Amino acid sequence: MKLATYSPLSGGAQRTALVAGHTDLYDLVAEAQARSLAPEIDLRSMLGLIRGGPAVRAALDEIAREPRTHPISLLDVRLEAPIPRPAKNIFCVGWNYLEHFEEGGKTLKDDRVLPEHPVFFTKAPTTANGPTGSIPWDAAVSTQLDWEVELGVVIGTTGKDIAEAAAMEHVFGYMVVNDVTWRDVQRRHGGQWFKGKSLDGTCPMGPWIVTADSLSPDDLAVHCRVNGVTKQSSRTSSMYFRIPRLIRELSLGMTLEAGDILSTGTPSGVGYARTPPEWLKPGDLLETEVEGIGVLRNPVGDTPG
Ligand code: MG
Repeated sequence: MKLATYSPLSGGAQRTALVAGHTDLYDLVAEAQARSLAPEIDLRSMLGLIRGGPAVRAALDEIAREPRTHPISLLDVRLEAPIPRPAKNIFCVGWNYLEHFEEGGKTLKDDRVLPEHPVFFTKAPTTANGPTGSIPWDAAVSTQLDWEVELGVVIGTTGKDIAEAAAMEHVFGYMVVNDVTWRDVQRRHGGQWFKGKSLDGTCPMGPWIVTADSLSPDDLAVHCRVNGVTKQSSRTSSMYFRIPRLIRELSLGMTLEAGDILSTGTPSGVGYARTPPEWLKPGDLLETEVEGIGVLRNPVGDTPG
């Protein structure tokens, strides 16, 4: 099942939808009205869907089996970030593909050893951007804007001290994420990555959430292209720390909540590690793809997205 947040091109508030095939979606509030669902089954927002538990899930399954409204063409809507305003910072993993770890060490000329535990950092909720949103570009901030294709995991069931064996039961679904990074800003603040990873609009995500029952995340192709040229190409099977281990470590002593987002790290091929380094610039088209989920197409602009 694919679940999206969209805005009608004709205007109006953001709405939730079930995506059917490659061309259609069904508005979930209209579907709820068409079947007189109980008011406590709240389908109005993605966070509501995720937190709604089994009753919402049963309603979604019923809608997927037999929609009662007319489909809306994807051409008539603008897809938004599936979770347009995350409830808290987006959790991210650094150095989770060996080749990216090695290219980082080579470029930064440090003498690193593989970590025994994952490196975690976060991106502010205001980084959330949609699958076609413009990525703000401002030379007054930096000119070193870099790309990082990643598989995003959406938590569906709240938990703490989650065992690896139970971790996947806490996953609601998956989406494509690009951990867009202002690279020199990342390095400017005493080794803290937060600032350079948290500028507005630097977390394009989507184009929808594919629910966990529809996709195995273990060996998916991940690609990143700039103006049609492939810059990153790998598979999630090359992750050093797999999803259950990441959930285990992140939830140790810290509650992971339904609706939280975990981005699982990027493979090699980022701009700063290239010779010479490459940066995104206004007018570029950044494409981010994960097999079985979809593609984000974000232009780089000089105005807020
Ligand atoms: Mg990253």
